Amino acid sequence: TEQVMLDNAVKYQQDELLKVEREKNAALENSINIKDEFLTTISHEFKTPLTVINSAIQAMELICKDDLSDKAKNFLNKIRQNTFRQLRLVNNLLDVTKIGAGGIKLNKRNHDIILLTRSITESVNLYALQKGIKLSFVTSLKKKVIGLDEENYERIMLNLLSNAIKYTSSGGKIEVSIKARKGNVIISVKDTGFGIPRDKQEMVFERFTQVDNSFTRQAEGTGIGLALVKMLVEALDGCIHLKSREYKGSVFTIILPSAKVEGGDVCINRTNT
Ligand code: ADP
Repeated sequence: TEQVMLDNAVKYQQDELLKVEREKNAALENSINIKDEFLTTISHEFKTPLTVINSAIQAMELICKDDLSDKAKNFLNKIRQNTFRQLRLVNNLLDVTKIGAGGIKLNKRNHDIILLTRSITESVNLYALQKGIKLSFVTSLKKKVIGLDEENYERIMLNLLSNAIKYTSSGGKIEVSIKARKGNVIISVKDTGFGIPRDKQEMVFERFTQVDNSFTRQAEGTGIGLALVKMLVEALDGCIHLKSREYKGSVFTIILPSAKVEGGDVCINRTNT
């Protein structure tokens, strides 16, 4: 009977511990939901005026560029750059909370990934040039049509490219390349920047992680870009790898399946029109 009493006492203790654990998990889940809701609301509130500012800048550049002095053009440039940065941040926040809540919707269509990647790379060339960085796009492929979500892919590439620009000093190089191999497409973004120490390489794909060194402390960021990139790549059934050496540079490689969407036409890329 002593044994039975002992067993009962142990079981009671285990049940109590389980109950406390369950209550703790429920409370944690609740606070995560509240945090996600808060982030989504705040991001939306930020996004609306930013989108309006962005369109106004574009209109100003299109319509009144000739009426502006060089000084004014310079200021406009700064406004455009920072609006772009802020919009990317808000979009990342919105995405990361949406995906975290299990809601990522894909609109997969057939795209020529060569054309798409070239035009995304060209869209950030000005930023690279302004920082004194040479940005190039290399491929031996003329055309490669695969099924993917254009917006997702654009977000992945813009995050990798802006990181490469952010963490590379003047005089450095960034090379975007595409290869096809065994039913996959391999896209790399290689930079000659500050690099990431080996023991931090896995961590950078986690939310809110920044490598804390004197270089990255100078650059602003939130540490959600790469976590989002990983989620978006995985949503496209792909994977992402990082190879990096401190003070030498980094290569981010994405492997995507090259399957097409059955029966779909090839889209004219939005970024090209
Ligand atoms: P953020 O750039 O907003 O800090 P990310 O999630 O995009 O957030 O990146 C996480 C961290 O990984 C960065 O803070 C930086 O330390 C490091 N990192 C990312 N890309 C590079 C790169 N191309 N070269 C060097 N370090 C990088």
